[in-house]
Amino acid sequence: MAKLFVLSAPSGTGKSTIASKLLQQIEGIKKIVTVTTRTPRPGESDGVDYFFITKEEFEKRIKEEHFLEYAEVYGNYYGTPKDQVERNLKEGVDSLLVIDVQGAFRVKEIFPSAVTVFLLPPSLEELKRRMISRGYRDSNARLRLETAKKEIPCAREFDYIIINDFVDKAVYQLKSIITASRCERESVLEVLKNVLPSEEIRSLVKGGECYGKKT
Ligand code: ADP
Ligand code: 5GP
Repeated sequence: MAKLFVLSAPSGTGKSTIASKLLQQIEGIKKIVTVTTRTPRPGESDGVDYFFITKEEFEKRIKEEHFLEYAEVYGNYYGTPKDQVERNLKEGVDSLLVIDVQGAFRVKEIFPSAVTVFLLPPSLEELKRRMISRGYRDSNARLRLETAKKEIPCAREFDYIIINDFVDKAVYQLKSIITASRCERESVLEVLKNVLPSEEIRSLVKGGECYGKKT
């Protein structure tokens, strides 16, 4: 069964940076390209960073139940298309959802087995520096910082917390979480036939008697 990994953090913490590095280093996982009504930033392209659509089109898609979840963030709509997640599940490919905390909670409601990861900035000063380095004006950064103070307490509700002080360390930790999740007992037992060639070992794992376990 393919898995869903949800990466959330206050805007400017480094989600996109960490996600894109991760995808270069690990197989079997695809990032869900979400849909937004905000305008593209310099360097962003349609279908890669987001699908950029109008507010009218977004509202039409809400009615058509196109989204697994959607939220309004900083005055724009953002939504996770159902079809990409369903396709990945069908093809046995894991999904990486890079979405805000509201979306993370909604996905966890729909898929309780989704693995949620919260990325924390090392400090509020560093978060502001990253926002400004990304081109936000001071007033915009101030609003996002105030929102960050309301999002950071949500870290307590997530399965994992990573501190993004150094990119390579954060990517390594996220990769380790994904790798460990893929080795969870139930996940391995479910796909044993595909991953373990020895019929003998498979039948021992599935039906043999466990020596040493007191009954
Ligand atoms: P988000 O997707 O969470 O909004 P980005 O990935 O766009 O954040 O990162 C915001 C800015 O912070 C970018 O300029 C990025 O290069 C920088 N950044 C991300 N992670 C780190 C880090 N660990 N150390 C220093 N700068 C970082
Ligand atoms: P940005 O405008 O900085 O790209 O994104 C703003 C916020 O919206 C980020 O926290 C980002 O992760 C989040 N976001 C992006 N796509 C989605 C989505 O489909 N659903 C939700 N709930 N949040 C999203």
